[in-house]
Amino acid sequence: MTLLAQQDPEVARAIKKENERQRDSLVLIASENYASRAVLEAQSGVMNNKYAEGYPGRRYYGGCENVDVVENLAIQRAKELFGAEHANVQAHSGAQANMATYFALIKPGDTVMGMQLDQGGHLTHGAKVNFSGNLYNFVAYGLDRDSETIDFDQVERLAKEHRPKLIIAGYSAYPRLIDFPRFRAIADQVDAIFMVDMAHISGLIAGGAHPSPLPHAQVVTTTTQKTLRGPRGGMILSTEELARKIDYGVFPYAQGGPFMHVIAAKAVCFGEALRPEFARYAEQVVANARVMAQELSESGLRLVSGGTDNHLLLVDLNPLDITGRDAEAALEEVGIIANKNAIPFDTKPPRVTSGLRLGTPAITSRGFKQEETRRVAQLIVQTLADMEDERVKKRIAEAVKDLTSKFPVPGLD
Ligand SMILES: *Cc1c(COP(=O)(O)O)cnc(C)c1O
Repeated sequence: MTLLAQQDPEVARAIKKENERQRDSLVLIASENYASRAVLEAQSGVMNNKYAEGYPGRRYYGGCENVDVVENLAIQRAKELFGAEHANVQAHSGAQANMATYFALIKPGDTVMGMQLDQGGHLTHGAKVNFSGNLYNFVAYGLDRDSETIDFDQVERLAKEHRPKLIIAGYSAYPRLIDFPRFRAIADQVDAIFMVDMAHISGLIAGGAHPSPLPHAQVVTTTTQKTLRGPRGGMILSTEELARKIDYGVFPYAQGGPFMHVIAAKAVCFGEALRPEFARYAEQVVANARVMAQELSESGLRLVSGGTDNHLLLVDLNPLDITGRDAEAALEEVGIIANKNAIPFDTKPPRVTSGLRLGTPAITSRGFKQEETRRVAQLIVQTLADMEDERVKKRIAEAVKDLTSKFPVPGLD
């Protein structure tokens, strides 16, 4: 029995069951992944106990010599991994990285351009329920109705009309490559700073499976827990020119003491991502997404934009006459975990939606190749085709169990 199980059986039991749930289900949530055991070990260690306000070599507390080592390692590795001039690894999360970046670079009331939330943007890109939509004047660009890809004519027209201080690219539900140089050219025309939020695709970029936003963007934010497969956390990369402002925006402006245990785990994660195996992982994530898209399309499902170039795909459920909410629930019953998602120009409310978002980062981490991914796609098709039949669902649940038991997750018990 572990110490935790002895001292606090209720929490220990929930953690144990969560381990089993992650092990026994097919995780297709595009923003989730399985961090390595080394990452989890660093994150759960004693650096949790250390206060280290400030930056390496410039702290407000004594006793920082060891946490300085891990923060310097994280910074050096992040810069090497992405070819950045400056890295701040203290943001507690992706949302906080964006918050600190806005604090650093713009003032309340300034105009910012970002993707419309229901077409793939993020809460922190101007949603009315978020600080961003309240503090700043966000102008939303969107997708072209036919191609369901970024409408660059609209981006350019809106930029010239509104002259934003900041233009943001980078999304939560966009299955295509992003043309960073084209955004930068538009930003330059109106003297805006070009910011990329690569939260979803940073692992693909690190592994060379998606073009890099550097050096096109002056500032790049990310989470570290998604395709990058690290601890839950955020990071900001920038030009040397913006470095001081960014650091100040994070601390002392937006945050207090950094999570040194998480920063230690970020250093481990970046070290892993620098290895050749990680490039193979990123490539496989994309190859698996392609196979899944192909299989779903061949089975008659409609994919937003017709397919995928990255780690995720969006299924339009309208032709099947089912909702995202119902599809998510039916899939969960058979052990396939995905999320409902708005599709471009969706007519259903956010709690219902007409779409399903599927991603391959987690199943690829557990070792799935094209063959297994094709099988997963078939199980999804079968589930959606017959959401009421209990016998069908039981058979699919068995197939899920068979697949997951053959591919243990590195990092889980
Ligand atoms: C996930 C995500 C974030 C926020 O990350 P958290 O770590 O959940 O705060 C920000 N931007 C984009 C585009 C995201 O997909």
